[in-house]
Amino acid sequence: MQLAVSTWQEVEDYLRGSAGIVVPIGSVEQHGPNGLIGTDHLCAEVVARGVGDATGAAVAPTLAYGMSQHHLGFAGSVTLRPSTLMLVVRDVVQSLAVHGFRRFFFINGHGGNVATVTAAFDELYAAQSLGDGGVPVQCRMAFWSGPRCKAISEELYPGVEGRHATASEVSLAQFYQSRHIKHAQMSPKVAPSFPQFFDAADYRARYADGRIGSDPSLSSPEHGKRLYEAAVLDMTDAYKAFLNY
Ligand SMILES: [Zn+2]
Repeated sequence: MQLAVSTWQEVEDYLRGSAGIVVPIGSVEQHGPNGLIGTDHLCAEVVARGVGDATGAAVAPTLAYGMSQHHLGFAGSVTLRPSTLMLVVRDVVQSLAVHGFRRFFFINGHGGNVATVTAAFDELYAAQSLGDGGVPVQCRMAFWSGPRCKAISEELYPGVEGRHATASEVSLAQFYQSRHIKHAQMSPKVAPSFPQFFDAADYRARYADGRIGSDPSLSSPEHGKRLYEAAVLDMTDAYKAFLNY
């Protein structure tokens, strides 16, 4: 059940049977020569909606913007500061908690969100533990590509999945947004990979076209369909396990 296309009465009815909700979260940032700016939030969104269809879970509107400061050297990228993103997460969770939602399952499409969103969860728990107010909630975050997806990635893109603008996420976005498939030469074919990067200027200097360690010229919407079906199964398992935890 997607909140965005439900009425408040439908949400009230839902809350009589479940206190769980799926929250897709991603980023608005460059994804190399053939990856869409919205890749991370589009991937999180399509998988979250699939989990909603499979389980009947409520699915919140996508939190499209994330912590992407290191991508600002590339046009179209937008970041929330970590402090801003933590407040967004807190206010979204606490707003929904007012109505009775208690279990928040974030499906994430962007590795750069992990530290900040995890810290936002800890702020919520700290407020509860210290008696600073707020409704007690429980939150979990999982990256959309679980074990089934990793097996497919290893089969399709052995050694060249990479860490940013990955072949898998580009394929999944191509499946979801099949009218917006881009074609580009990759040079070098497999992007470089370093252990660490710092700010946007440093990132741009290390990764000329924005990719890290990937070859998304291998991506296709057919691959994306396989990854989508696997991801929905992976995340359905994870959501159900969270509700029963
Ligand atoms: Zn990404």
